[in-house]
Amino acid sequence: MRIGVLGGGQLGRMLGLAGRPLGFTFTFLDPADECPAAIAGDVIRAPFDDPAALDRLAETSDVITWEFENVPEPSAMRLAESRAVHPPSRALGVSQNRLLEKQSFARLGIPVVRHAAAKDEAGTRRALETIGLPAVIKTQRMGYDGRGQRVVRAVADVAPAIAALGDAPLIVEAFVPFRRELSVIAVRSRRAEIACYPIVENHHADGILRRSLAPAPDLAPALAAAAERYARAVLEDLDYVGVLAIELFETDGGLLANEMAPRVHNSGHWSIEGAETSQFENHLRAISGLPLGATAARGVSAMVNLIGTMPDLALLLAAPGAHVHLYGKTPRPGRKLGHVTLRADDRTALARALEALPV
Ligand code: AMP
Repeated sequence: MRIGVLGGGQLGRMLGLAGRPLGFTFTFLDPADECPAAIAGDVIRAPFDDPAALDRLAETSDVITWEFENVPEPSAMRLAESRAVHPPSRALGVSQNRLLEKQSFARLGIPVVRHAAAKDEAGTRRALETIGLPAVIKTQRMGYDGRGQRVVRAVADVAPAIAALGDAPLIVEAFVPFRRELSVIAVRSRRAEIACYPIVENHHADGILRRSLAPAPDLAPALAAAAERYARAVLEDLDYVGVLAIELFETDGGLLANEMAPRVHNSGHWSIEGAETSQFENHLRAISGLPLGATAARGVSAMVNLIGTMPDLALLLAAPGAHVHLYGKTPRPGRKLGHVTLRADDRTALARALEALPV
């Protein structure tokens, strides 16, 4: 089967690497000069909204998907006129707008943080009267990896925060004093089967994922069940096909959904070595009409992102049990260059392996 992928980053690379053993071939469409996915298939180098390039992608593919969530929804819709496109293009529209996203969660009975829309400084001040301080002001659109958001602790912080975010529709959220961040990764097939990976614990710094632990240690079974229920509700509501990730806050009062990603997700990379079937393979199985693979964890795993600078490969590989994945990207501050997964039979052994990892 020929798979067309909008986006040619590391997620595309890992999709391609997972699909080759199954006999799938790949064409990636990406505007960037540097394309990590190029090792796994052909590349059409063009903007995501270039009609000729989209038509070429359709001609060379049987099924189309994406690995980048800011792909324009109209591009996915154009492709859907002639080819099977999974997930559904409307999942892009929802996930690209933080307000729509929270409204969709709420409509499905999924708890979200107190929030309000705002247009400008006066509107933000008004929103803060009901939301309270501290709060997080975010642009409604084009935010990921901590971009497009500012924490405000006092009214005096509002003006500089708005100036930094630029002239864009905003969402004002209460600051959540969470215990920890979790994510749920689930997959729905074309036959409407659903499978859910164990819930993952995530550690961020500067809005960028640094480390994931899977399964999340000491998670109350009721919370794990709730997270899975939320994922199912979103998958069914959107008649979704493929892998979906939902990021959650664990609070004293239970879970709050923060955002969703309609694609394979960084907090699921552990599944390459740490689960019976990786999120990448399961995404491909789902979109191509094949049965899903088991999502059970094989022991316990930790995934550590390599960000900004590349540690010495020999040193990384000298760490016992380290599985290293490099994305072939030029180092730059804040850039995800690769990740390392450690897998162990129990938490004590995993903690020891993590201590020995030179990152
Ligand atoms: P986001 O871009 O919404 O995924 O936010 C990036 C990171 O900022 C999250 O992973 C949290 O660590 C933090 N964050 C986002 N929203 C809130 C909030 N309302 N309260 C506290 N922390 C937040």
